[in-house]
Amino acid sequence: GGTTQSPAGGTETTPAGTETGSGGEQTGAGKTVGIAMPTQSSERWINDGANMKAQLEALGYEVVLQYAEDDVQMQVSQIENMVAQQVDCLVIAAVDSGALTTVEAQAKTAGIPIIAYDRLLMDTDAVSYYASFDNKGVGTAIAEYIVEHKDLEAAKAAGESYTIEFFMGSPDDNNAVLLYQGIMEVLQPYLDDGTLVCKTGRTSFDDTCILRWSQEEAQKMCENYLSGFYADEDLDIICSAFDGFAYGCRSALEAAGYTEANWPMITGQDAELMATKNIISGKQTMSIYKDTRLLAEKCVTMVNAVINGTEPEINDTETYDNGVMVVPSYLCTPLAVDKDNYQELLVDSGYYTAEQLAE
Ligand code: BGC
Repeated sequence: GGTTQSPAGGTETTPAGTETGSGGEQTGAGKTVGIAMPTQSSERWINDGANMKAQLEALGYEVVLQYAEDDVQMQVSQIENMVAQQVDCLVIAAVDSGALTTVEAQAKTAGIPIIAYDRLLMDTDAVSYYASFDNKGVGTAIAEYIVEHKDLEAAKAAGESYTIEFFMGSPDDNNAVLLYQGIMEVLQPYLDDGTLVCKTGRTSFDDTCILRWSQEEAQKMCENYLSGFYADEDLDIICSAFDGFAYGCRSALEAAGYTEANWPMITGQDAELMATKNIISGKQTMSIYKDTRLLAEKCVTMVNAVINGTEPEINDTETYDNGVMVVPSYLCTPLAVDKDNYQELLVDSGYYTAEQLAE
């Protein structure tokens, strides 16, 4: 089941637009693009889907946009349907990056090119291009923010330490693994020399990853950590890989009685609207701004290229080995955002309006 049913607007087909694209050409006239997105439970994917759809329609493409609500089988069926419908190109942000190999092979047989969107598609030779952010760079930016804003070098010199706990992404998402690597490359030395103290001892990826990036799971983990390990000492740093985790940890901290006086540093990813509001109010310290408009734009150039047989702009041909092939990629740059630069990065750029943030 789950082929056409998904909550609120999970399936939409629109007629080819009549507007012209930026170049004034109807590049996409008569062509259909199938977009498979993972979930509407997190804001970023709703924006990604909406941006892609709008940009493709502006070029005259028809768009079939579907969300799988983090259900692997639902996503498989949705893509099977798109293949059966003979869409001209597939854009996939996978729920489980390695679970789509059969349907990807079917697409290839049917002559339908696939573009991996944000998350790499693993173990397949059916993918033409990958549009994403520098995913290890996301981890590096989070960790460097911690080092800088907690002044870990000064703490180290003074023989002081901070407590820290880790909340990492889904093990079936290649991005989560890279992000973790980026974080540990920067923070491991401070864990080794005792400047950072992880009282649960949970620092490995296996011990800190959270299946399907579940906010609820992060909250539970945080509750358990606080009651089991932080009864006598405050937790100083929550190194979270995702805004959703930051929300879950926030609830756990409030329930455990944390206040402004001992509120920890909390990191995140995506600069979601709620996260940005939390940054302004001090409930979250920072996030990673990934401009989904730019990602959509890069992905659209790839769609145009595979459909028209041209070469899209690529800036990485080495990093993203999916186990079968190295996928030619375009990686956008992630940026750390906090209360000091959100105005410039998020408001001045038009990502959010001041009104949205004030609501
Ligand atoms: C994306 C992140 C997002 C996470 C959870 C990852 O694959 O790269 O931007 O926060 O999934 O949705």
